[in-house]
Amino acid sequence: MAIYDIAIIGGGINGSGIARDASGRGLSVLLAEAADLASGTSSASTKLIHGGLRYLESYDFRLVAEALAEREVIWAMAPHIVWPLRFVLPHAAGARPAPLIRLGLLLYDYLGSRRLLPGSRALDLRSDPAGAPLRAGLRRAFEYSDCWVDDARLVVLNAVDAARRGADVRVRCEVVRAGREGGHWTIELYDRVAGRTSTVAARVLVNAAGPWVGEALASRIAGSGRSRARLVKGSHIVVPRLFAHERAYIFQNPDRRVVFAIPYERDFTLVGTTDVDFTGDPRGIAASPDEIAYLCASVSAWLAKPVAPADVVWSYAGVRSLYDDGSSAAQEVTRDFMLELDGAGGEAPVLSVFGGKITTYRRLAEAAMERLAPWLPNAGKAWTRGAVLPGGDFPVDGIEALVASLYREHPELPAGLVHRLARAYGTRAGELLAGSRSLTDLGHRFGADLTEREVAWLVREEWARTAEDILWRRSKLGLRFTPTEQRDLEGWLAAHLGALAARTG
Ligand code: FAD
Repeated sequence: MAIYDIAIIGGGINGSGIARDASGRGLSVLLAEAADLASGTSSASTKLIHGGLRYLESYDFRLVAEALAEREVIWAMAPHIVWPLRFVLPHAAGARPAPLIRLGLLLYDYLGSRRLLPGSRALDLRSDPAGAPLRAGLRRAFEYSDCWVDDARLVVLNAVDAARRGADVRVRCEVVRAGREGGHWTIELYDRVAGRTSTVAARVLVNAAGPWVGEALASRIAGSGRSRARLVKGSHIVVPRLFAHERAYIFQNPDRRVVFAIPYERDFTLVGTTDVDFTGDPRGIAASPDEIAYLCASVSAWLAKPVAPADVVWSYAGVRSLYDDGSSAAQEVTRDFMLELDGAGGEAPVLSVFGGKITTYRRLAEAAMERLAPWLPNAGKAWTRGAVLPGGDFPVDGIEALVASLYREHPELPAGLVHRLARAYGTRAGELLAGSRSLTDLGHRFGADLTEREVAWLVREEWARTAEDILWRRSKLGLRFTPTEQRDLEGWLAAHLGALAARTG
């Protein structure tokens, strides 16, 4: 039976980040994901690498400072899928007082460890283009920096890098049960595709099951303690583009929450989020009609042209598994991560991950390795700060140069496709396109600009197995696919997956 140094339950951002960190320290790693990589909360976020301006109100300065410091670190690690975004915060009577906001933003600037991101400033909405889509009568706004990230691709790139460094990444592989035996963990796995069960062993176990962290503790990991998870659901809607410029808005709601409206996938605007206490199984959850109505009303209160539920072209929901700190309101529960270690008296340890943010996943992985160090004496030093992710080996301001060089090599390809591939795969886009001169060389075209070449790449290099994996996580081409095109892709995968996946090994 194979013995791993570390077995990880869950291929979300935290499990994949820990797998990457641990394999880069020379450890043998198993990452088991029951469904697809990023199929849980990590593809359902607001997709911001941010400090969280609103956490300043709860005096969470350490959390904000640590998260802010990660912005430029993560941007430099993956400049193809991470980029700076300016946020416009309009001010109106009845909202938080302007001097308080100005002070908060100065603190945000000060805590932010910024080298490249510009600081905050005040705007006059009567002359600034950011005022154009807003309702009449608004005069003042503030503007500040955070970063945007393709959350699902960040997860996949961490898993790809972990695998390159030797991790055994298994998708559609569920951890059914884990029990302590002879100083290590014996773990039963169920391969959902092959329908087979197998057993492995590991010195340490990491429970990074996201919203299932409590379920894993309660019914899969033998002898583990009571869970302190508090599940909070958040939903987003996507509507046709609401404004022409490239900045995002952060709107203040009368309930003191904030709602974002963010430029999304060129032709759309992403609006979110909600905070609703949640019970039940988070698999397959969706935005409720009430949440959709709430989000539409929230942005409509600030815009000249209202947004209605009928405008919504797509919506999604995710569940945070926060550490229950006893707060009454869902939006007040700390977003900080909590690592709970259970391994008293020389037992094989299990480390459970609660809460956290996409933004701080790299730091969480480092903290997890520090906590597990006594059981992993052969682990190398921390290394991920400054280590680029696959395709990210180009300067943070180099995306246009990368697009131009790809275009020079493939002048017959549509400019939009070249740009999308550069954004998705960074410097690896050249590898994906190798030997192709025209669109015909890329094989069958399924819909939008998705070709057979890219689908084969996603199966071979990124563990994609279904149309949903490809259209909603490896890309967001689902926004542009018709139902017929989706069926065509599903049919093609059914016919070719076996051969393609076999080549993956
Ligand atoms: P998940 O991504 O849920 O991963 C857990 C994985 O475990 C799942 O894929 C699941 O299939 C797998 N799993 C479960 N049980 C088993 C089992 N038995 N065997 C094998 N696999 C199993 N953070 C930010 O930094 N910026 C944001 O803008 C932001 N916005 C957010 C907005 C919303 C609405 C929400 C809900 C969260 C947001 N977050 C944001 C927080 C961030 O998304 C989460 O902290 C993060 O995605 C959690 O990742 P995870 O890996 O812990 O969990």
